[in-house]
Amino acid sequence: MSNAMRNSPYANAGIVAQVHPSDLADYQKHGVLAGLRFQQDVERMAHNGLFAPAQRLVDFVQARASASLPATSYLPGVASASLHDLLPPFISRSLQAAFVQFDKKMHGYLSAEAVILAVESRTSSPVRIPRRSDTLQHIQLARLYPCGEGAGYAGGITSSAIDGVNCAGKIVGEQ
Ligand SMILES: Cc1cc2nc3c(=O)[nH]c(=O)nc-3n(C[C@H](O)[C@H](O)[C@H](O)COP(=O)(O)OP(=O)(O)OC[C@H]3O[C@@H](n4cnc5c(N)ncnc54)[C@H](O)[C@@H]3O)c2cc1C
Repeated sequence: MSNAMRNSPYANAGIVAQVHPSDLADYQKHGVLAGLRFQQDVERMAHNGLFAPAQRLVDFVQARASASLPATSYLPGVASASLHDLLPPFISRSLQAAFVQFDKKMHGYLSAEAVILAVESRTSSPVRIPRRSDTLQHIQLARLYPCGEGAGYAGGITSSAIDGVNCAGKIVGEQ
């Protein structure tokens, strides 16, 4: 992690957990906004004033509270919390399993110095604007091309770029 001089003592990374429509059974009453409501609930669970809930990575994996926390680059500050209880269980379980695997591939990843903060919830859009798979146009509005991350078809730079290229190709083909 580098603010300017590439001399920060920290290495920062965001870890993304998958959420499938089948994980949102309890939110179906919210219809197409089910994912948005789920996102709001996750954010509420992690809200702790200005401080971010945090836990040592090894403690998170072993589902025990952290008695102390190392310094982090998160300026408002952190407060010890049991993230394995704060996060929805299907997300906690997948992250706990993933960190063990990460450490097998990158020895030292699962260290006493590593700390996780919750929660960064704005990754992919929780809502998808429907489109035809053949023309990539909206299912009701001709020549409207829902595209990229905001429309729910990508998450991140590369998948957004690819979706943009695909939609642009369809638009050019229409003309
Ligand atoms: C701080 C940060 C860090 C990130 N880091 C990474 C990373 O390391 N790796 C990674 O893969 N992804 C990262 N992302 C995510 C990545 O930036 C997005 O997934 C990607 O940019 C989405 O591309 P997009 O083309 O779908 O949307 P955008 O890039 O959001 O493009 C949408 C465009 O539409 C324009 N627009 C909006 N409304 C209108 C309107 N009414 N009329 C005309 N134009 C409009 C906007 O100005 C914008 O230019 C990061 C995002 C943020 C915010």
